This record gives sequence, structure tokens and C-alpha cells, in this order.
Amino acid sequence: MKCSVCGREAVIKLRHAGLRLCPEHLVARVEKEVAGAIRRFRMLAPQERVLVAVSGGKDSLALWHILVELGYRAEGLYIDLGIAGYSARSREASQVFARERGFTLHVVSLEKELGATLDGLTRLARGKTCSLCGTVKRYLMNKFAWEGGYQALATGHNLDDEAATLLGNVLRWDEGYLARQYPALPGEGKLVKKIKPLVFLSEREMAAYCLIKGIRYLYEDCPHAQGARSIALKGVLNELEDRYPATKISFLRGFLKVRDRFRPPEPVVLQDCPGCGMPTAADGPCRFCRLKGRVSHGAAA
Ligand code: SF4
Ligand code: ZN
Ligand code: ZN
Repeated sequence: MKCSVCGREAVIKLRHAGLRLCPEHLVARVEKEVAGAIRRFRMLAPQERVLVAVSGGKDSLALWHILVELGYRAEGLYIDLGIAGYSARSREASQVFARERGFTLHVVSLEKELGATLDGLTRLARGKTCSLCGTVKRYLMNKFAWEGGYQALATGHNLDDEAATLLGNVLRWDEGYLARQYPALPGEGKLVKKIKPLVFLSEREMAAYCLIKGIRYLYEDCPHAQGARSIALKGVLNELEDRYPATKISFLRGFLKVRDRFRPPEPVVLQDCPGCGMPTAADGPCRFCRLKGRVSHGAAA
């Protein structure tokens, strides 16, 4: 198998892009796609500081690496959720990565901020783990980025993630979520701009990039991911992709062309939470502060 660009030995075949690539040209493609997404969606200006949410997995670590390679002022944020048998290893992978490269990694502990780990919170709040996790992670990432003066918060969502999210939103015809699914969401008040520079790169490309660049990442997924709906959606899309290459990329690119037609049902009015001062759509304390109240109440009970 020969590289479609230079004719040397190829290491990966990307059916969806009609390419076979050698290590050098796979790296070039990945970095070019990231730079292209940043330009197209006006994700970052050269002087802006960006905080990368890292999990120790391939996508977030590779994203951080690429942003630095491209010359951006990128630092990392790891949120220690306190998930037994997982968080310690994902934290270690993130710290080793940062240390080896001399990158700045900030670590925030959910237990310190909230008074409980994610496992403890799930028991107390009796909610679904992933939904609670999403709430606390979004809150802490934004709060840290806002207080630290970063202009953007970057996450490692890749093409497979975004196509699965899109399929989930379409199956429910959730207009509000569809309107908000975009590679770059502008900042507003204390809400920091959110960007997803890997949006057009597949999981396979990211795994190959890490291998070529010597990025050692945590292979295992969060134990709570197993029953998650997103895994089932990814499975369906993988089957379709096998039979009809480029299904995922055309699904996502096609959506981005028509996304303007979806409108959130009502504009959300944000106000400052009386507890922490961060923006909330709730009338009163934000969801994080309410959870915190529940934790301290539960702990006192
Ligand atoms: Fe959080 Fe669920 Fe993802 Fe685990 S799988 S990190 S619990 S959202
Ligand atoms: Zn080549
Ligand atoms: Zn609050």
C-alpha cells in the first residue's frame, strides 16, 4: 500500500477521504485539518490563550499537542472526578504527558470543589452518572477558564463523537441541541468560547497520530461509558461507515450546511448565581450550587 501523496509505504487507509497515508503525511493531514477548522470557524486568534480540557485519552492529549505545535498558547485542565479505579490512571496519563513536554497542566478536584467525588454525588443526588458528570464538568471547566482569563476552552471531540451526538439529537429532533451543536460556540458574559478543533478527524486518525508522535495515552474508557447511549449510536454509525464509507463526514458536513435552520425554542436569559456568581438560566442558585447544597446536607444528615 503506497502513500497517496508521496508514494512511500502507507500505514493507514482512510476510506472516507480516499487516501492512503505514510506517517509523515498522516501527521500533516491531521495538523492541516485542525488548522483549517480553527480558521473556518474562527476558533482562535493567534494571541488568545486556550485551555484544553484533558482526560488522559488520545483525543484531548493529541489536541493539546497539536495546538502547541501550531503555535497557540495552550494550557491543560484536568478535572479529577474521583471515579474509583479510573480517575487516578487518567490523571497520571495527563500529568506524565504534560511533564514530558514541559506543558502547564492545572488539576481541579471535584471532591474539593463540590465536597463529593462523582461516585459520591451519584449516590447522593440519585441522578444518572453521566448527566451529573456533564453538569459538573461543564461548570468547572467554564469557571476555571473564566477565572483564569482564557479566551477559549477546547475539547477533544472528534468526528465520531460529533456524528454520534448529531444522530442522537436528530433521533429526538431536539431543536435546541441541534441549534447549539457547532464546532465553535461564541463566549457570552462569563461563558467562555467553546471550541472543538478535531471535529473533522476520525478516531482512527487520532489514534494513528498519537502512535506516530509517541503520545502515550490511557486506552481504557471511563467505566460509566459502557452503558451510555453514545456508545450504541457510535456502533450504528460504525456499521454504516463500514458499508458506506464517508457516512459520518457527510452526515456532519451536511448538517453544518443546514444548521442555521434550527433555532433554540426560546432565548435563554442568564443571570449570576447568588451562590458562586457564575451564569445560570435558573431562577436562584445554579445547578452546581444546588448539588453542592445537597452534598453538604447529605453529609450532615
Ligand atoms: Fe463522565 Fe460518563 Fe464520560 Fe465517565 S462516561 S467521564 S461518567 S460523562
Ligand atoms: Zn507520504
Ligand atoms: Zn452557583
